Amino acid sequence: MVEEKLLEILRCPVCVQEDKGLLHLVRQTWLICQDCRRKYPIVDDIPVMLIDEGDKWLAVAEADLPVPPPAVK
Ligand SMILES: [Zn+2]
Repeated sequence: MVEEKLLEILRCPVCVQEDKGLLHLVRQTWLICQDCRRKYPIVDDIPVMLIDEGDKWLAVAEADLPVPPPAVK
């Protein structure tokens, strides 16, 4: 389980530059940016906040996100 406090301060690395990028936790395993809809997986309780990773899931619908997310290489 990811700590609430950590989630409060995390922002999408793309949108944070414009002071945006609030994330929304989905199924305890994904963080979805409310602004650009990039999706960041939480793997082994660690949010993977990489732009490349967010891009990878951009076109995947929220309902189609794999749970648990695949490991990031
Ligand atoms: Zn974003």
